[in-house]
Amino acid sequence: PYTGPSADEILSKRKEYLSPAMFTLYSKPLNIVDGRMQYLFDDKGRRYLDAFGGIATVCCGHCHPDVVEAIVNQTKRLQHSTILYLNHAIADFAEALANKLPGNLKVVFFTNSGTEANELAMMIARLYTGCHDIISVRNAYHGNASGTMGATAQSIWKFNVIQSGVHHAVNPDPYRGVFGSDGEKYARDVEDLIQFGTSGNIAGFVSEAIQGVGGIIELAPGYLPAVYSTIKKAGGLCIADEVQAGFARTGSHFWGFENHGVVPDIVTMAKGIGNGIPLGAVVTTPEIAAVLTRRSYFNTFGGNPVCTAAGLAVLKVIEKEKLQENALVVGTYLKERLTALKDKYELIGDVRGRGLMLGVELVSDQKLKTPAKLETLHIMDQMKEMGVLVGKGGFYGNVFRITPPLCFTKEDADFLVDAMDHIIARI
Ligand code: PMP
Repeated sequence: PYTGPSADEILSKRKEYLSPAMFTLYSKPLNIVDGRMQYLFDDKGRRYLDAFGGIATVCCGHCHPDVVEAIVNQTKRLQHSTILYLNHAIADFAEALANKLPGNLKVVFFTNSGTEANELAMMIARLYTGCHDIISVRNAYHGNASGTMGATAQSIWKFNVIQSGVHHAVNPDPYRGVFGSDGEKYARDVEDLIQFGTSGNIAGFVSEAIQGVGGIIELAPGYLPAVYSTIKKAGGLCIADEVQAGFARTGSHFWGFENHGVVPDIVTMAKGIGNGIPLGAVVTTPEIAAVLTRRSYFNTFGGNPVCTAAGLAVLKVIEKEKLQENALVVGTYLKERLTALKDKYELIGDVRGRGLMLGVELVSDQKLKTPAKLETLHIMDQMKEMGVLVGKGGFYGNVFRITPPLCFTKEDADFLVDAMDHIIARI
């Protein structure tokens, strides 16, 4: 049993010594002390079904024994920077990761986070093209350092950064967007941005395949292929931010961009790649990667032996336990059940997403699509009381983000939907 400090004690230390910007998900915050696969346990030993941990990093399941073993073994043997000597862990993982990517995406740069990966990807695009302008999609989240915060396109996540060379395209949002599901119409805005906002040549385009923080928004079909060809014509590179949608989460494919039939020039990843260990990566082609030989470039801990040993173990677990297939089967089932719930309640405006990356948008008026923010908070709190943890997102904070570890089962899906159903029925 847990004998550490209580939730109240932790909260008061947090108030005194930690960032005042930190937030908690619940009105009565949870003190989580243990994790096992799709479950989390609080200080009283109460079990919660974790339907949000997938985004916070975990893809194989909390404390997956194979990943833990790889981390412990490597920690006992050696943990060091990668820049000084040879070590097999980084090379083995780079090879395994490159083998998961299509085309000539063969060169891996490791980082410690998704922000760092996107910063590096944008710098590479600028170096390779000699241009500065980058296009990102409105409602995107790409990180919180200066460049990536510039590329992030939601006021709630932006401070007063210099918007150096980033143009934000109309979001191809099938639910709220002006062109509905017509991806090609939205893509014309990217052409306009290039024609009217730049010299005609640009460094690149960056986008998620499914916007995560933005509220699980699947880009309208046809958008990415049209935009990729526009960007290529303008001499730019296409960057796929797979921090959330990658690593088997969408079920039908290993990478989110594959759902759109495109092949990017640069792919960035983090979160699920390390099953909870800080790790990120940028993968590109040998020709593009060569730009970084013009100067010295290194990252002290990017790709360190412990993190890359974890990364390799994650890839093996995904394969061994057929987690991509599971994401497809369980995700499809869960989406069907959530869609049935949408037909039952006026409060649910939209159910969307792929595999185990699903969103449920709550509105108080189906026609006006008025965000039901308070109801979202209430239901989330009540679901926690019933032992189910879901996330929240979207610009208006009215979308449930359901992104569990990929070991989630149909029984878990039933429990989640039954709990949601029970609570909505009582509103
Ligand atoms: N890209 C996407 C799509 C993300 O969701 C996030 C984090 N929410 C990031 C980049 C930044 O990753 P990190 O927090 O590891 O810096």
